[in-house]
Amino acid sequence: MIMVSSVIQSQGNLQQQEEKLARLRHTCTHILAMAVQKLFPGTRVATGPVTETGFFYDFDSPVSFTPEDLEKITVQMRRIIKANLPIIREEVQRQEILEEITSLGEGYKAEILDRIPSDDVITRYFIGSPDAVVQPEPSLFTVAQGDAVNKNCWWDLCAGPHINFTGEIHPKAFKLLNVAGAYWQGDETKPMLQRIYGTAWETPEDLQAYLKQREEALRRDHRKLGQDLNLFSIQEDAGGGLVFWHPKGAQIRHIIEDYWKRSHLEADYQLLYTPHVANLELWKTSGHFDFYRENMFDSIDVEQQAYQLKPMNCPFHVLTYKHELHSYRELPIRVCELGTVYRYERSGALHGLMRVRGFTQDDAHIFCLPEQIAPEILGVLNLTEQILSDFGFTDYEVNLSTRPEKSVGNDQVWELATAALKEALDSKGWNYIIDAGGGAFYGPKIDIKIKDAIGRSWQCSTIQVDFNLPERFNMEYVASEGDRQRPIMIHRAIFGSLERFFGILIENYAGDFPLWLAPVQIRLLPVSDDVREYAKSVAAIFKKAGIRVEVDNSGERLGKQIRTAELAKIPVVAVIGKKEVENQSLSIRTRQNGDLGVLTTDEILSRLQEAIASKELI
Ligand code: ZN
Repeated sequence: MIMVSSVIQSQGNLQQQEEKLARLRHTCTHILAMAVQKLFPGTRVATGPVTETGFFYDFDSPVSFTPEDLEKITVQMRRIIKANLPIIREEVQRQEILEEITSLGEGYKAEILDRIPSDDVITRYFIGSPDAVVQPEPSLFTVAQGDAVNKNCWWDLCAGPHINFTGEIHPKAFKLLNVAGAYWQGDETKPMLQRIYGTAWETPEDLQAYLKQREEALRRDHRKLGQDLNLFSIQEDAGGGLVFWHPKGAQIRHIIEDYWKRSHLEADYQLLYTPHVANLELWKTSGHFDFYRENMFDSIDVEQQAYQLKPMNCPFHVLTYKHELHSYRELPIRVCELGTVYRYERSGALHGLMRVRGFTQDDAHIFCLPEQIAPEILGVLNLTEQILSDFGFTDYEVNLSTRPEKSVGNDQVWELATAALKEALDSKGWNYIIDAGGGAFYGPKIDIKIKDAIGRSWQCSTIQVDFNLPERFNMEYVASEGDRQRPIMIHRAIFGSLERFFGILIENYAGDFPLWLAPVQIRLLPVSDDVREYAKSVAAIFKKAGIRVEVDNSGERLGKQIRTAELAKIPVVAVIGKKEVENQSLSIRTRQNGDLGVLTTDEILSRLQEAIASKELI
């Protein structure tokens, strides 16, 4: 009976969403909890916030909810909606409401109440009227322990806002999606609750459109495809959030790394390799120990000295710069590294390749003169565009974040750097949104989000000017007058994290990688044993030409071989029977364009090479 929605969590979300939709979803989550408490006596409620595309509610129930239960709950929610009950806000006194919550045995609510600051107004929202004389439909309500009032209503502690009547929700425009375990307050030392996820929209059509996109997203889920295509794993035995790249995934990573290194060398970056751990003192100098500690693993003791797994590569690149004295004539200096970093993430926050504890950044730092900021940023934007578009991403959302209230560096240098970022974006001709005050404390930044094949946005690239680290590390160059000056430092990453970018790639392509990335580009399917030798000789020709080729040696009949290749999403298969051997040819089928007919080895080889060079599907 008690309800609720989480006061704190929902507020941030409300700002981002269309307000009406958020209110509707917020009311839905109350209706969900009301229905659950009616159908499953003894269930206690925790929190029920709105999310980006729907809502959820966490329950502590003696029952383990099944998909059939979700259907029952849905029917009950529709009854509450059809009864068109009023939703009524009431301000309450802390002590009184605490007593009521306690008498109902709603311990989670009591904890939520306890976290509300003492001078905040505390409100609850009723579904149904607490003063109702006429009982619209008693079967909708739970009878509270010894509290007759609650026979006519259900309430939850909540800051609101809500819609005015339950009937404003279309009974066919919401859906309960699934149940998952969730620790109370996301803390793995606290009880595991059952979280029911749902979504709600203004119209049934909107709901259907959302469900279609969601289904498409589930079909593309990189965790599922990663398993099906045997690309990577995350193994409980090794610990959470640590990625194992299997041979096919590692093949793709190798191509990405190789491409990345060549692009950077062409753009006059110099490659670096730096250690994975370093003396903790270094992280004190860099300021990470003070400002970034919650994301760092505990240090390791090495001969009475504390060593720290690196959460960032930046200080290492600074030390490399500082190893010798540089003249202004040498600047800009651009260094880059595929640097693996380790960050402490709670188990509850881990998610496939998207959120992990060890990942490789495609990191680079540019050390330059103040007047070089604009041209250097433009160079980074050009390289970013080249790289992202080669991976199929051509639609970007760009943000420029400016000086926050708390910041280091003087006005003049902030103005200069911010103007330089604008100048670079303008000369690139990109539209961008200014996030006033959204920059890091150490400098302004540009963030680039990419749009994937089903319209989702992913934050990948970031370019940040930094006035802080050069100061902390006392970095210098010899200026034209012979005096010592501080260089400007620019941090930048294009993929962000190789692991996460790989996850995005898998979902963007739904596992159907373009030929240049496909771990196996062509599979040869011998129809019978007597053509196996010919298949082997053709495979040798492809291999020599740099094509990733496999021969199906399962001995299965052709239909089965074709299906296996389809499941593995192999872009091209070549069927080899007696006729093909006689004609010295191959019968080619592609995943994207069906039968290409009978081709000679040379013909298909040049078709493959064309598709590889153009980075297209074949
Ligand atoms: Zn950096």
